[in-house]
Amino acid sequence: MPDRLVVIGGDAGGMAAAMQARRRQPYLEIVALEKTAWTSYSACGIPYLVAGDVASLDDLVARSPETFRGEHRIDVRTHHEVMAIDLDRRSLEVRDHARERTISVGFDQLHVATGARPTRPDLPGIDLDHVKGVQTLDDAKVLLEHARVSRCRSVVVVGGGYIGLEMAEAFVRWGAQVTLLEGGDQLMDTLDADMAARLVAPMRAMGIEVRLGALVEGFEPGRVLLLDGPVEADLVVLGLGVTPNAELAGDAGAERGARGALVVDRRQRTTLEGVYAAGDCCLSHHLVSGRPIHVALGTVANRQGRVAGINLGGGYASFPGVVGTAITKVCALEVARTGLTEREAAAEGFEAVAGSIDTTTIAGYLPDARPMTVKLVAERGTGRLLGGQIVGEEGSAIRIDTVATALHARMRLEEIIDLDLAYAPPFSSVWDPVQVAARRLADQV
Ligand code: FAD
Repeated sequence: MPDRLVVIGGDAGGMAAAMQARRRQPYLEIVALEKTAWTSYSACGIPYLVAGDVASLDDLVARSPETFRGEHRIDVRTHHEVMAIDLDRRSLEVRDHARERTISVGFDQLHVATGARPTRPDLPGIDLDHVKGVQTLDDAKVLLEHARVSRCRSVVVVGGGYIGLEMAEAFVRWGAQVTLLEGGDQLMDTLDADMAARLVAPMRAMGIEVRLGALVEGFEPGRVLLLDGPVEADLVVLGLGVTPNAELAGDAGAERGARGALVVDRRQRTTLEGVYAAGDCCLSHHLVSGRPIHVALGTVANRQGRVAGINLGGGYASFPGVVGTAITKVCALEVARTGLTEREAAAEGFEAVAGSIDTTTIAGYLPDARPMTVKLVAERGTGRLLGGQIVGEEGSAIRIDTVATALHARMRLEEIIDLDLAYAPPFSSVWDPVQVAARRLADQV
């Protein structure tokens, strides 16, 4: 009898692991239990589907359950929700929603990739029908329907993080009156305040009503209640961050850390014997701060899943960690960040210096040149790069990858200045924008 690997969760962190294990172990029995109808779907694509950029929901599915079963011999069971893990018996209690029965599924090795769920604050009216979270393709279907068929006139997005920004764009492009409510005093709290402030005026110019310091008190049919009066809303979209789905493994005894996420080692092993985890349900090691951090991103889930799968398949792999790289856009405005912000660097005990430059995406004399701002953060004295942020128009934000790569290599500003980066006028200035920012900051270090 071959060993059986059971994977809980059929998306990035789960199926990346299942595929790697399959590549190494052709005869391993692999069962993947997924509570929805979907596998390997791109939640990242949901805002673009709702905006009307993606032809069909199926285009967001990288591999369907049928493909996993037929081409990779992975026994994917959809509508199967794992309710409990019994470690002593090496067995799972599973609710088969389609047949309305509870079964037990045995395992030799277990991989937990249960992801995270959108945060829903306990406010009056939160369960009203027009208050929606954004996570699954089922959510995407409902939101697209709202946008296309009912043509909701007024949409309120609650939360000024990247999902809030992306959903605001989706609805403003359908012609809706969009109000974005943020309880804090800046959008995108993963940026420093000076960089976040650059988002507000362009978003207002796009027709998005941005309200900062707007604390939601509750929801009623057709409106959102705020301290200073109601805002009309045919539809409310929540973008308030996520909570790791770590209770299942936690109840079985797995250690949990910051924000309740699962603690894993570099090989993605939880503290339970033979139980691995990857993705939004678990923690990562931050390469700049040196601390555990909960990062809910598809990039991280895929990489962690790959590492877990190699190890589950009998190979050896370790996940070095993250630098917290993220990128988004709202209409023509692009935003990216990596490493530590100035605020975070100070909180981590670094003596940090920071500086920003305003430049253009390509040679300034070309008609397609667009404005962009680069901010870098470095350690005083050593000049070690600690982080970077970019806000600008089309073609700007992806340059954050240079900063992220430099962080992985623990580079100093002087080393960034010496990088041999590409230049021709339609692509860049002769000094790359990141290098210009590094030169400016090097003078202050
Ligand atoms: P999930 O994708 O959440 O998958 C977990 C799966 O486990 C789910 O399918 C769930 O149904 C299943 N499950 C949970 N509990 C059980 C159970 N008990 N039994 C059985 N099944 C269970 N990331 C980026 O890097 N870039 C982006 O641009 C980006 N955009 C995003 C936009 C939106 C709107 C959203 C919602 C997310 C976005 N993300 C983005 C984040 C990215 O989608 C997630 O980080 C990624 O999907 C995490 O993968 P995961 O496998 O850990 O978790």
